[in-house]
Amino acid sequence: MNKFFTTFAILTIATPLFAQTSLIDLFDNVWEMTKADAANGVQRREYAGYVTLDTSTGEYGLVNVTPGPWVPNNTNASMRLPVRPKDIPENPSPVDTAIYVVAWFHTHTPTTFVTFPYREVGPSQGDFNASIHPYINMPGFAYDYVPAPANGHPSGTIPAGHPINSSVMLYPVTPPERRPTP
Ligand SMILES: [Zn+2]
Repeated sequence: MNKFFTTFAILTIATPLFAQTSLIDLFDNVWEMTKADAANGVQRREYAGYVTLDTSTGEYGLVNVTPGPWVPNNTNASMRLPVRPKDIPENPSPVDTAIYVVAWFHTHTPTTFVTFPYREVGPSQGDFNASIHPYINMPGFAYDYVPAPANGHPSGTIPAGHPINSSVMLYPVTPPERRPTP
């Protein structure tokens, strides 16, 4: 019955299982790419991809990771979410041990060199819209900094000049809480 549970459920309910899958390491790799791209001080970009669950092994994967457009320091970054991959096999029967696409994932970018005063952290309205989009229709994750508002800035923000290696967290982008069963 738990064949189609999402990483969101794993994250919030079964942390040891989540850690066992090394999915967080896959997210960390993409975060390192995001930071490396932002370290030049001139431009930066987000990354986006999809989380898969191989029900024959219980292992998660991160596939189709795609960079967003480069943006200069005075511009907010955006993702380029690739087309949602198909399950393998494409039309699994209820008894198949298939590889299911269970969530989407993306990073937000450091503000270390931006020229605007601050930005909000966590999912944007566009991110929430993506999760409920008919072509996506699954929970998402945003990898972004822990809020650290500077004096006089709104809560839920990080300022310009935020140190690039500051603490990050995984934000769920829901609804939906789980993808529909095939
Ligand atoms: Zn986003």
